[in-house]
Amino acid sequence: MRFYIITDLEGVEGVTLPIQTEAGNPMYEKARRLLTREVNIAVETLREIGAEEIIVLDGHGANQAYNLVYEELVNGARYVMGSPWSNYLPLLTSNFDGLIQIGAHAMAGTKGAVLDHTMSSRSWRCAYLNDIPVGEMGIAAFYAGTSGVPLIFVSGDDKACLEAKGLVSDVETAITKYGLTRTSAIMLPPGEVERNIKDGLKRAAEKARFIKPLSLDSPVSFKIEFLLAEHAQRYWNREDVELLDPRTVIFKGKDAREAVERWYL
Ligand SMILES: [Zn+2]
Repeated sequence: MRFYIITDLEGVEGVTLPIQTEAGNPMYEKARRLLTREVNIAVETLREIGAEEIIVLDGHGANQAYNLVYEELVNGARYVMGSPWSNYLPLLTSNFDGLIQIGAHAMAGTKGAVLDHTMSSRSWRCAYLNDIPVGEMGIAAFYAGTSGVPLIFVSGDDKACLEAKGLVSDVETAITKYGLTRTSAIMLPPGEVERNIKDGLKRAAEKARFIKPLSLDSPVSFKIEFLLAEHAQRYWNREDVELLDPRTVIFKGKDAREAVERWYL
């Protein structure tokens, strides 16, 4: 079996403050070690149950996602680091049996979710695919769905796990913490997080072939409502972008992949 893992930092165990996700801060250095630990648990678990190929995409950070602690990575996977959003889910093909998200967070505006946001807390208010509200998890899941790859597993806070179930009812999840406010959480100890990830991944791999990839009716529209008009300004004069109002833009494509890719052209 082949699995594609996308990582983020906000949903990782022990992470609940914005400074833990900002490179250069001493607390970030600890957070990336916790992320690396969760990724290693995932890779080793999937290898134990017979996975023959695992790609891990380091996914936190807009232009240069580089968070995994390279020297601590375990054997058994290939790790994509430094990738920009303009190369979304690189190396993903229809050969993969499932999409896995480690360290995921809920979409912007989710009550009691740790560090909730969609792409950028500084410039995005919300996003929709064919009028379905989507956060980063949903964008990745619908995008992967165009290659026939289903979302099979998500780890993150309880709100991220709930969002995953709303997208794919059969998805398996592993809760790493329970969100209280945007910057506080009830933390599970590392040993419990490890058990949740291992058990959830085993269940997910077992049923992966029965989980349907997400799909949308064509044509697909990807709507982004930015916080301010100036955040959308660069799209105002693009002929392939529909302007709903000065800060809300719609990108159209034959499927979710094409519509999403128009955004970062
Ligand atoms: Zn992130």
